[in-house]
Amino acid sequence: MSNEIKRIGVFSSGGDAPGMNAAIRAVVRTASYYDLHVYGIYQGYEGMIEGKIKRIETRDVGNIIHRGGTILKTARSEKFKTKEGRQAAFESLQAFNIDGLVAIGGDGTYTGAKIFGEEFGIPIIGVPGTIDNDLYGTDYTIGYDTAINTAIEAVDKIRDTADSHNRLFFVEVMGRDTGFIALSTGIGSGAGSIFLPELKGEMDSLFEVLKKSYKRNKLFNIIIVAEGDNNGGATEVAKAVKEKFPDFDARVTIIGHLQRGGSPTCRDRVLASILGASAVEGLLNGHKAEAVGIVNHEIVYTPFEEAITKHKELSKDLIRLAPILAL
Ligand code: ATP
Repeated sequence: MSNEIKRIGVFSSGGDAPGMNAAIRAVVRTASYYDLHVYGIYQGYEGMIEGKIKRIETRDVGNIIHRGGTILKTARSEKFKTKEGRQAAFESLQAFNIDGLVAIGGDGTYTGAKIFGEEFGIPIIGVPGTIDNDLYGTDYTIGYDTAINTAIEAVDKIRDTADSHNRLFFVEVMGRDTGFIALSTGIGSGAGSIFLPELKGEMDSLFEVLKKSYKRNKLFNIIIVAEGDNNGGATEVAKAVKEKFPDFDARVTIIGHLQRGGSPTCRDRVLASILGASAVEGLLNGHKAEAVGIVNHEIVYTPFEEAITKHKELSKDLIRLAPILAL
């Protein structure tokens, strides 16, 4: 292993995701194993600019593996998008002799890391931390499994009341640009229909499903809608259905930020642990400007450029099966 890197900085950035703490813990413990010093950078790029940096050691990350959120906090930073902001961030790192970075976040975080690395030559490894699962270069992102389990739990509870009252429920889950959360939640909760940003024409098929239900006087149904679907989210879908079927007792539930919180699932903790450790080992092995991920059970390093520009597709099998399973 190369011994050039001696001091690494770790930070979380963008939206928080359950499992970020497990990743931070893995970074700190792995770095310590290889005799590196680790510095926690608080509040993402904004904190880097402001010099909110503190040495963290193995014991500082005890008792956090099970906690949601991030002990390093997170933030969005407009200043980091400017050359002056990034110059100030680099000077903060120099003050602590930090010579490598681990950036935990989504594609915005990767974009900032790519530009920063190119400008100042500092090696950076990205760790995919976002509930949306929309990052190329890894089959799953940290936080996604917890988010879908939270959503499923909520839908199961709604299902009880929907069934008892013979009601139609529209449940909105997170996903502004992608339908990973909606698709898994829909399949896993046995939804009658799933609305995704990637698809069009779901409204017509929903009307067909509801017409049949109406004939059978089975008004109970659960419809999962991604917040970024093409009809304007669950409220708009429900409005359109109400206009066509005034007899339906239709209700809307927006799960919202509940999906970001909570204790990470075992899967997310294990994923975060492997990826956090592999980020440190990647830096030591000379990787830079790459995001670590797991694809087909293998640890892979994907250049930021590719991770940012390439698109991860939803499972075609799940999309095809969703209406069949809802018959
Ligand atoms: P999530 O997927 O949870 O939203 P994210 O990492 O995509 O996470 P963003 O808010 O898009 O979240 O990005 C995080 C931060 O990365 C931004 O606040 C900004 O500081 C930095 N960043 C994003 N794009 C750029 C850019 N073009 N140049 C420099 N920095 C950037």
